Amino acid sequence: MTELENTRMSNPPSNNIPSNDPSGNPGRTTHAPKHRTPPIYSDSIHARREMIATQICKRNIHNPKVLAAIEAIPREHFLPAKIATQAYEDRALPIDQGQTISQPYIVACMTQALDIKPDSTILEIGTGSGYQAAVLSRLARNIHSVERIESLAHAAEFRLGELGIYNVRIHISDGSVGLQEFAPFDRIIVTAAAPATPQPLVDQLAEGGKLVIPVGDENQQQLLLVTRNDHRIVEQPLIACRFVKLIGIAGWAAS
Ligand code: SAM
Repeated sequence: MTELENTRMSNPPSNNIPSNDPSGNPGRTTHAPKHRTPPIYSDSIHARREMIATQICKRNIHNPKVLAAIEAIPREHFLPAKIATQAYEDRALPIDQGQTISQPYIVACMTQALDIKPDSTILEIGTGSGYQAAVLSRLARNIHSVERIESLAHAAEFRLGELGIYNVRIHISDGSVGLQEFAPFDRIIVTAAAPATPQPLVDQLAEGGKLVIPVGDENQQQLLLVTRNDHRIVEQPLIACRFVKLIGIAGWAAS
């Protein structure tokens, strides 16, 4: 397993989440960005607000912290340049390596279901473009994100760095077996479809923890909310969805 170095210690996100820079010194960077966020950040704010109103709030997602996190992150920044103009459409979009960035509503739904607290330690399986991780970065201090495709992991790391997000640690490995060395996790989000809930992920859930995961066949899944309370595991179906496959030991075999 590889952990990408989190070298871009640039300005912290403006989200009132304490810095994870041990020196507590914000604003240092190896690339010395002059702006806290790239210009594109504010250019698309109206499109993001429109997207939130028409695609997310109308489908009953109202957690103000989740909405604020989505409003803060420029989705176009996580897309291939040739389809960046489609960033605020109501659908999943292709990224590199035959993978996808999830539909904004699904990102909002999964994020709300996690009920994240600022001190939650979060594990994301399926970094993809890094967009979901960027949204999570606004809500909690400590995020681990695992991606099996190295080039996607590196590209996501770079994009997060460009936005000054440094509380996400990206790992390159088979996330279907979790990330044992950093367990337990208060929240786990799996953004690829599994044939069944992977037992290693359930085992790495802290007491009181929540796991959101799409489970089903290759064509359609149910988004499940799995909770661990008093050492009991309870699974609750949320919505129907369709994700690319979770490939790995506790997922699907690579074809
Ligand atoms: N969360 C992503 C985003 O915001 O762009 C979207 C994730 S995409 C729908 C699913 C991702 O899961 C792909 O990038 C894929 O390579 C990754 N993936 C599939 N199986 C995996 C595994 N066992 N471990 C880690 N990542 C995996």
